[in-house]
Amino acid sequence: MGTHTEAVHAGRGDLRALGVHAPPLDLSSTYPIHDLEQAVESLDALGAGAAEAGSPLYARLHNPTVRRVERALAALEGTEDAVAFGSGMAALTACLLAACRERRHVVAIRPLYGGSDHLLACGLLGVETAWVADPVGVGDAVRADTGLVILETPQNPTLGQIDIAAVAAAARGVPVLVDNTFASPVLQNPARHGASLVLHSATKFLGGHGDVVAGLVATTAGWAASLRQVRIVTGALLHPVAAYLLHRSLPTLTLRVREAQERARVLAGLLEEHPAVTRVLYPRPDGVQLRGPGAVLSFEVAGGIEAAAAVMAGVRLITPAVSLGAVDTLIQHPAGLTHRLVDPMAKEALGITDGLLRLSVGLEDVDDLWADLEQAVTAATGMGLKGRRPRAAVVAG
Ligand SMILES: *Cc1c(COP(=O)(O)O)cnc(C)c1O
Repeated sequence: MGTHTEAVHAGRGDLRALGVHAPPLDLSSTYPIHDLEQAVESLDALGAGAAEAGSPLYARLHNPTVRRVERALAALEGTEDAVAFGSGMAALTACLLAACRERRHVVAIRPLYGGSDHLLACGLLGVETAWVADPVGVGDAVRADTGLVILETPQNPTLGQIDIAAVAAAARGVPVLVDNTFASPVLQNPARHGASLVLHSATKFLGGHGDVVAGLVATTAGWAASLRQVRIVTGALLHPVAAYLLHRSLPTLTLRVREAQERARVLAGLLEEHPAVTRVLYPRPDGVQLRGPGAVLSFEVAGGIEAAAAVMAGVRLITPAVSLGAVDTLIQHPAGLTHRLVDPMAKEALGITDGLLRLSVGLEDVDDLWADLEQAVTAATGMGLKGRRPRAAVVAG
């Protein structure tokens, strides 16, 4: 099935038999046991990581509403299975716990989302992280006790692209986790290029409306079983209401990502021409791994932290806020906010400068977005771009 079809129908396969059109929201915390023998069987199966059993038994073991959105993401990513968690960070934590029980060494390509960087750097989970810059660095850093290789592409917040297949080859059999939050399954499917674990902060494009916090990992059946075991033991559950909202958002995922991407393309081009903008960071899709540049871009304004702060304070339509992938446009300051806890030396080397702003483009009219951005940048820096208007014809509708 095509991506649009999967987005609309995936995870809804049981609705016909249930005789309903919309997925039911099951809020039960426990399920009645009428047959002890069968309940024990279910408990053993779910405890071993099974996706389903005769009885859900208890909500920490299984929830049918959550299960549907897991099936949907697996279909969109082209993986055997997927497992849902209470946030992207809970999902990453579960991957580390599942992959690094014996092999406690992790190789990670910087930059990563600041929270992921912090989780790896702070030592909370007992892992030791070797930071590298590219696939060659991965090859040099992998050891006999390396349990996981972690990367993001496009990267948060510098939008760098990493060749997933090259990393998988360099990892020499060590599982590779790709954070696919920025591209979404609409633009990139890391499992096709050798990733074992595909992580999403579903808080972003998958949820898409700024009202859900969730994490999902698309993966093989074997990894999914291990992740479910971690989820049962640690209780890092996705609440069924959040799963319901997330599943409700998926039918429009392809349309949202493509429409936002068209606006982002226009804004990236206009920012390039603005005299106060010293750098624009926006992916260049190769058409093989990455099928489109996406809806997130970063740009650097002349004047450092003061100018960046003034842009954030000066926008009126755009919301100054962390997070991304929502229907409305958000702007934030990575060095001060999302990447605040990243080692200052690393931040500098990675180009996460004081003047850098990250823009997550939503679905507003591109003319309105540009007018707002232009007035904010011009007022903040005292440098204007007279009379340039968006090439509105690029955006249909
Ligand atoms: C937001 C984000 C995360 C963390 O996800 P939460 O849902 O906030 O826990 C991880 N990776 C990337 C790329 C993100 O943008």
